[in-house]
Amino acid sequence: KIKGRFQMTYEIKKYGEQVLKKKAEPVTEFGEGLKKIFDDMLETMYSFNGVGLAANQVGILKQMIVIDTAKEENRVILRLANPVVTSVSKEKVTYEEGCLSFPGIFEKIDRPSKITVEAQDPEGNKIKIEAEDFLAIVLQHEIDHLNGVVFIDRMSPARRIMHGKELKELKTETKNRIKDK
Ligand code: ZN
Repeated sequence: KIKGRFQMTYEIKKYGEQVLKKKAEPVTEFGEGLKKIFDDMLETMYSFNGVGLAANQVGILKQMIVIDTAKEENRVILRLANPVVTSVSKEKVTYEEGCLSFPGIFEKIDRPSKITVEAQDPEGNKIKIEAEDFLAIVLQHEIDHLNGVVFIDRMSPARRIMHGKELKELKTETKNRIKDK
């Protein structure tokens, strides 16, 4: 008998795939099955050195995100179902963001520096998170994914134009990959 859980990694959906533009459905069933998906999402994220991942990015249209701020002083690991931003500060902060669905593209984005998020843990318990700076940014980036919003949608038009060529190439790559399947 094999003991322990085996971990699997998902394929990451890239820019050009429709699932990144779709809204995720609320999670209604909690428990072991859900925990396994969260753990596999974390494993996938670690394998690409990411700090956050939303379920849309692995082709699952459920409101689920994982975060591990490993490089920060206060390490936070989160597995959140149905996360919603319930308040934001007026004060903004700028971070250079990247996204596993947009390999090679990095850009400065302005977002509120402090936020409150209400969500549920993998058991379905309600939780409230007060986050600021880096954690607040990662949370907003991942929650955006659940609403079909990606970080290039948050770029200023000028900066988005600057990345025009890279984005076009990435989209073509994705199209060719889907076609080959
Ligand atoms: Zn992302």
